[in-house]
Amino acid sequence: MKSFTTRSLNVPFPRKDPHNALAMPVYESVAFEFASAEDIAANFRGELPAHTYSRTSNPTVEYFEAKIKALTGAHQVLALSSGMAAISAAMMAICKQGDNIISGNHLFGHTLALFEQSLSAYGLETRFVDTTKTELIEPLIDKNTRAIYFETVTNPQLEIANISRLSEIANKHGILLIADSTITPPSVFSSKSLGIHVEVMSTTKFISGGATAVGGIIIDNGLYDWNLNPNCQPITAKFGKDAFVARLRKNYYRNLGMPMTAHSANYMIAGLDILELRVERCYQNCMKLGEYFQQNPSIKRVDYPGLKDSPFFDLAVKQFNGVPGTVMTFDLESQAACYHFMNRLKLIRRATNLNDNKSLIIHPYSTIYTEFPEVMRDTMGIRPTMMRLSVGIEGAEDLIADMEHALRED
Ligand SMILES: *Cc1c(COP(=O)(O)O)cnc(C)c1O
Repeated sequence: MKSFTTRSLNVPFPRKDPHNALAMPVYESVAFEFASAEDIAANFRGELPAHTYSRTSNPTVEYFEAKIKALTGAHQVLALSSGMAAISAAMMAICKQGDNIISGNHLFGHTLALFEQSLSAYGLETRFVDTTKTELIEPLIDKNTRAIYFETVTNPQLEIANISRLSEIANKHGILLIADSTITPPSVFSSKSLGIHVEVMSTTKFISGGATAVGGIIIDNGLYDWNLNPNCQPITAKFGKDAFVARLRKNYYRNLGMPMTAHSANYMIAGLDILELRVERCYQNCMKLGEYFQQNPSIKRVDYPGLKDSPFFDLAVKQFNGVPGTVMTFDLESQAACYHFMNRLKLIRRATNLNDNKSLIIHPYSTIYTEFPEVMRDTMGIRPTMMRLSVGIEGAEDLIADMEHALRED
């Protein structure tokens, strides 16, 4: 198997470019014309596949989807306007009123809000559970359960569930296993080889190549029998293994209007080519920072599942090639000490995004989780003494020097 980067650079275009362009052109065109009235009618009948209108499909976006497909071995890929569009469309396509899903209790904030507020208003129930304790899951499954949903590495807790175990439970009950793999990009993680049926991802983070565009993808690994899902089953006779993506494309992507733009897809295409390089550099920085944190007495605690003494290290090696994302957390003695430290940083930026090329720091307790009651923050493991660092591609020595200066009392 060739390297991720070699493969990314050499995914063929779905169609030969008329000018032999080496980079995929950005097709900033809304509509696409047909040679005859008969052709356009055949297209609308589903007999002549072609791009018609960019809310339904677009050649540049199609190439990004083709690249993800080639790199992951997925059966089908759909690119959408954001990570949240990917998550909401995937959940709506597999559930209807009265159905439920089982979800990890430590989730990206807006996913939690989507499940608790937006989807619940349409009669879709979410049953939250600690997915690192797999024995708690089965008692929650009933005849209306459609999926187990989890994040590959939770943030900012940085916990890792045993995916093989989750896959066994999902398969035993004929329900879907859906992972949000935003933190663990496809250069270090293969959802297909671990039995995940559907993968959702915010490509805004690692894949965009450095925080340049908002986007998301849904991956169908082709491992699930769509006859088992009552909402996709009615169209399996017509679409077979493509039932999920067919339902998604029409009823959600098209009707709710969630397309990725050609311009964004262009960033994602370029981002994929340098993804492996960037992830490796961020990981090396995490390891050097981990060592620095561990020997510094002002740092009271450091969490990164890539470090040997993390309780999740073995799962990080097994599931993510030892690279469990490049986000870490560390604690000082008080919230005041965290603020003082953050305000003295000159290189590391105070911002809320993840996997930018720049290292970004935030105090989750007083920002992302500020609206949550104290008990809830406590049970979610959000400590007032903790900071989250999304490690970038700067030189490790420069990052350490910035921290040294910020920790000094002058
Ligand atoms: C950012 C993020 C999302 C949402 O993605 P957007 O592209 O911002 O809509 C979903 N899940 C995780 C884990 C994320 O970090």
